[in-house]
Amino acid sequence: MERALGPDARFREGLSNGQINLPRCDGCDKPHFFPRINCPHCGGTALTWHQALGTGEVHTTTTVRRRPESGGDYNVCMVELSEGVRMMSRVDGIAPADVKIGMPVAVFVGDIDGAPAVLCKPAEG
Ligand SMILES: [Zn+2]
Repeated sequence: MERALGPDARFREGLSNGQINLPRCDGCDKPHFFPRINCPHCGGTALTWHQALGTGEVHTTTTVRRRPESGGDYNVCMVELSEGVRMMSRVDGIAPADVKIGMPVAVFVGDIDGAPAVLCKPAEG
Protein backbone atom coordinates (compact mmCIF):
# COMPACT_ATOMS: atom_id res chain seq x y z
CA MET A 1 0.00 0.00 0.00
CA GLU A 2 1.29 3.44 -0.90
CA ARG A 3 2.14 5.55 2.08
CA ALA A 4 -0.18 8.55 2.17
CA LEU A 5 1.63 11.82 2.67
CA GLY A 6 -0.22 14.67 4.31
CA PRO A 7 -0.70 17.73 2.11
CA ASP A 8 2.00 19.76 3.85
CA ALA A 9 4.51 16.90 3.70
CA ARG A 10 3.68 16.44 0.04
CA PHE A 11 4.39 20.11 -0.66
CA ARG A 12 7.72 19.89 1.17
CA GLU A 13 8.60 16.71 -0.68
CA GLY A 14 8.13 18.66 -3.92
CA LEU A 15 10.46 21.37 -2.66
CA SER A 16 13.12 18.83 -1.80
CA ASN A 17 12.88 17.68 -5.44
CA GLY A 18 13.22 21.27 -6.65
CA GLN A 19 9.55 21.63 -7.56
CA ILE A 20 6.81 23.95 -6.37
CA ASN A 21 3.77 21.72 -6.57
CA LEU A 22 0.29 23.02 -5.89
CA PRO A 23 -2.90 21.08 -5.20
CA ARG A 24 -5.65 21.83 -7.71
CA CYS A 25 -9.23 20.82 -7.14
CA ASP A 26 -10.72 18.36 -9.64
CA GLY A 27 -14.16 19.76 -8.84
CA CYS A 28 -13.77 23.51 -9.33
CA ASP A 29 -10.36 23.51 -11.03
CA LYS A 30 -8.88 26.07 -8.60
CA PRO A 31 -5.47 25.67 -6.97
CA HIS A 32 -4.94 26.55 -3.34
CA PHE A 33 -2.20 27.14 -0.83
CA PHE A 34 -1.27 26.22 1.83
CA PRO A 35 -2.03 22.60 1.03
CA ARG A 36 -5.13 21.10 2.63
CA ILE A 37 -6.90 17.79 2.38
CA ASN A 38 -9.94 19.41 0.82
CA CYS A 39 -10.54 22.38 -1.43
CA PRO A 40 -11.10 25.66 0.46
CA HIS A 41 -13.21 26.94 -2.45
CA CYS A 42 -15.77 24.17 -2.81
CA GLY A 43 -14.90 21.57 -0.17
CA GLY A 44 -14.01 18.94 -2.77
CA THR A 45 -11.57 16.24 -1.74
CA ALA A 46 -10.40 15.16 -5.20
CA LEU A 47 -7.16 17.07 -5.65
CA THR A 48 -4.47 16.71 -8.28
CA TRP A 49 -1.02 18.17 -7.80
CA HIS A 50 0.51 20.29 -10.54
CA GLN A 51 3.88 21.94 -10.81
CA ALA A 52 3.63 25.73 -10.64
CA LEU A 53 4.69 27.78 -13.66
CA GLY A 54 7.32 29.54 -11.59
CA THR A 55 6.12 33.07 -12.27
CA GLY A 56 4.34 35.57 -10.09
CA GLU A 57 4.48 39.01 -8.58
CA VAL A 58 5.28 40.56 -5.23
CA HIS A 59 2.10 41.01 -3.21
CA THR A 60 3.57 42.47 -0.01
CA THR A 61 7.15 43.14 0.97
CA THR A 62 9.04 43.82 4.18
CA THR A 63 12.67 44.52 4.89
CA VAL A 64 13.97 42.60 7.88
CA ARG A 65 16.80 44.48 9.59
CA ARG A 66 19.84 42.45 10.48
CA ARG A 67 23.33 43.38 11.56
CA PRO A 68 25.86 43.40 8.72
CA GLU A 69 27.97 40.77 10.51
CA SER A 70 24.90 38.49 10.49
CA GLY A 71 24.40 38.92 6.76
CA GLY A 72 22.72 42.32 6.54
CA ASP A 73 19.12 43.27 5.82
CA TYR A 74 16.99 40.88 3.86
CA ASN A 75 13.60 40.81 2.22
CA VAL A 76 10.55 38.85 3.24
CA CYS A 77 7.61 38.96 0.88
CA MET A 78 4.29 37.43 0.10
CA VAL A 79 4.42 36.35 -3.51
CA GLU A 80 1.32 35.76 -5.60
CA LEU A 81 1.97 33.02 -8.11
CA SER A 82 0.46 33.19 -11.58
CA GLU A 83 -1.83 30.39 -10.40
CA GLY A 84 -3.40 32.91 -7.99
CA VAL A 85 -2.13 31.49 -4.72
CA ARG A 86 0.06 33.38 -2.26
CA MET A 87 2.97 32.16 -0.19
CA MET A 88 5.79 33.51 1.93
CA SER A 89 9.03 34.00 0.06
CA ARG A 90 12.08 36.18 -0.31
CA VAL A 91 13.32 38.16 -3.28
CA ASP A 92 17.00 37.49 -3.79
CA GLY A 93 19.44 39.23 -6.06
CA ILE A 94 18.49 42.85 -5.37
CA ALA A 95 18.59 45.15 -2.35
CA PRO A 96 15.61 44.63 -0.01
CA ALA A 97 14.56 48.27 -0.43
CA ASP A 98 14.33 47.78 -4.21
CA VAL A 99 11.66 45.10 -3.90
CA LYS A 100 8.35 46.69 -4.93
CA ILE A 101 4.77 45.56 -4.67
CA GLY A 102 3.58 44.32 -8.05
CA MET A 103 7.10 43.55 -9.24
CA PRO A 104 7.10 40.53 -11.59
CA VAL A 105 9.30 37.75 -10.30
CA ALA A 106 10.55 34.32 -11.21
CA VAL A 107 9.71 31.86 -8.44
CA PHE A 108 12.02 28.95 -7.79
CA VAL A 109 13.17 26.53 -5.12
CA GLY A 110 16.25 27.77 -3.34
CA ASP A 111 17.81 27.26 0.02
CA ILE A 112 17.34 29.12 3.30
CA ASP A 113 19.53 27.96 6.16
CA GLY A 114 20.06 24.59 4.54
CA ALA A 115 16.38 23.84 3.92
CA PRO A 116 14.61 24.04 0.55
CA ALA A 117 12.43 27.14 0.36
CA VAL A 118 10.42 29.13 -2.16
CA LEU A 119 12.51 32.07 -3.38
CA CYS A 120 12.02 34.79 -5.98
CA LYS A 121 14.21 36.87 -8.20
CA PRO A 122 13.28 39.79 -10.45
CA ALA A 123 11.75 38.53 -13.70
CA GLU A 124 13.88 39.09 -16.76
CA GLY A 125 12.77 41.67 -19.28
ZN1 LIG B 1 -12.83 23.07 -5.39
